[in-house]
Amino acid sequence: MKSRVRDVCLLSVLCASVVSASALDREAFTFTNYDLNVRIEPDQQRLGVRGKITLRNDTPTPQKIAVLQVSSSLDWRSIKAGGQPVQFVSRIYTSDIDHTGALSEAIITLPQAVAPQGTVELEIAYEGVVLLDATRLTRIGTPEAAANSADWDQISAKFTAVRGVGYVAWYPIATDAADLAEVDGLFDVLGRWKSREAGSKMEVSFDSPTVVGDAAAPVTLCGGTDLHAVPPEASAKVVQSKCSYRPLGLSVPAFVAANYGVVDRPSITVYNLPEHAVAAEGYAEAAEKASGLITDWFGALRTKSVTADLIDPSAAPFESGALLLIPLTQDVKLFGLVAAHQLMHAAFESPRPWIEEGLAHFAQALFLERQRGRQSALDYMGLHRSSFAEDEKRTTTPRPEDDVNRSLVNTTDEQLYRSKAMYVWWMLRDMLGDPALKKAFAAYHAEQDQEPAYMPRLIQAQTKRDLEWFFDDWVYRDRGLPDFKVDSAFSRTTMNNAHLLTITVENLGAAGAEVPLTVRFAGGEIGQRLEVRAKSKTVIRVETPAAPFEIVINDGSVPESDLTNNTFKIEPERN
Ligand SMILES: [Zn+2]
Repeated sequence: MKSRVRDVCLLSVLCASVVSASALDREAFTFTNYDLNVRIEPDQQRLGVRGKITLRNDTPTPQKIAVLQVSSSLDWRSIKAGGQPVQFVSRIYTSDIDHTGALSEAIITLPQAVAPQGTVELEIAYEGVVLLDATRLTRIGTPEAAANSADWDQISAKFTAVRGVGYVAWYPIATDAADLAEVDGLFDVLGRWKSREAGSKMEVSFDSPTVVGDAAAPVTLCGGTDLHAVPPEASAKVVQSKCSYRPLGLSVPAFVAANYGVVDRPSITVYNLPEHAVAAEGYAEAAEKASGLITDWFGALRTKSVTADLIDPSAAPFESGALLLIPLTQDVKLFGLVAAHQLMHAAFESPRPWIEEGLAHFAQALFLERQRGRQSALDYMGLHRSSFAEDEKRTTTPRPEDDVNRSLVNTTDEQLYRSKAMYVWWMLRDMLGDPALKKAFAAYHAEQDQEPAYMPRLIQAQTKRDLEWFFDDWVYRDRGLPDFKVDSAFSRTTMNNAHLLTITVENLGAAGAEVPLTVRFAGGEIGQRLEVRAKSKTVIRVETPAAPFEIVINDGSVPESDLTNNTFKIEPERN
């Protein structure tokens, strides 16, 4: 009887509701392994995928239903377990995790319930088109041009570039609905998926046939760790590229296929569209120039970086593993800045985003400092500050768990593990000096990074100064940002006619920091650095040769929640 009900269910759309909505736990399974073959048909703007995936039940209860989701422009063809077709209901599920604003969802009844921590291997097939589609953005009011430059993914005869989860679900995922209209709606869902998948593995092979009218098959690139492009031979009608992510980490698998030209240099390979050959030379040259700074800070390049051109000149750049996708029409002056980030990834590897990405952004600030001075680096960091300072403000009424969940060691929030982490590295550098920090980096080995305290310990080993409070406030926990102000300042003339200024600096925030302070006097200024712990005050004395008139705290190197209270006018001395 039971099996008959299931058979009927397969045919009846009404039955879909039996297993849908509230009863479904879409996030019960982690997809621990992908082994996929993707056939790209640029002329038809299609792809067809065949392969195997392994699902692990990460809930405490046995699971009989599994959910697989791909982009709504793709259709499920078959799903098998143990060589036998499984019963599934396919339907459209609204979610902004895909550029189309919806997913093609297969709700599968497994042959046997999967025990907690048990796994099931599924053989899958799906296919369909991947067209330029920014529905999820235009329906919340994003102007079309901007929406298309953000959601630029598509397969077409001229150019193919497709990013994975969060853009196009070209491989199966399983998530609750994400809504861009809600604050953090997409981010939370995406963050949960990525952290569940961080330890998973993916192997993909791509077949791309020659486009009608073209002399050779397109160059296909994907962003796995063993990135290797197969150079097109004039004779080959189909080329195959392979790509593996072991593990996925937080990276998003992506692929491109186009009639690329190649510029090859010792540290980098640049793939360019035919019309951007000059820009590709420029990018390669900028990368070669930046490589000295990068190897000086982070050691020798372990892998060769790969950059590939995007056809839309205003497309947002994207990184996937060792592959950087960027329109080479971008401002040539920015090439060095971009390359510094990319090369840092080639020199230094960490499974922890706040280290891997935070340091890549830190490398960009170092690059600007070397090129145009410290202020230029601080201005660049300032552009990043606004992105997470707003985020941090929202936690003025924090939930107790935010402190730990949003910490740099745990967060999946890009603003935090990129921008805030960059500041943390810069502050450490200002506190310890370049040689100490470089030594800590040299001592770091990704395979030994088994616990969050590994990197902080390597840094602590380079200094006698206690840094525990700093790591607590900035790395292990999210205490928000400091907020410095001059509480009081008194000046008096000394016997030898100098001026002694006693300054009390207060930190109203819950994160401590070492902050630079400048005292201005007629004819000059004097700089000092002082450590002001969270919710406390520090007193320093500064001697100036002429009467001081102003104190400025923070040159922009410490991210603060309020920068409007950082200048203090000193009352003229009364004799
Ligand atoms: Zn990066």
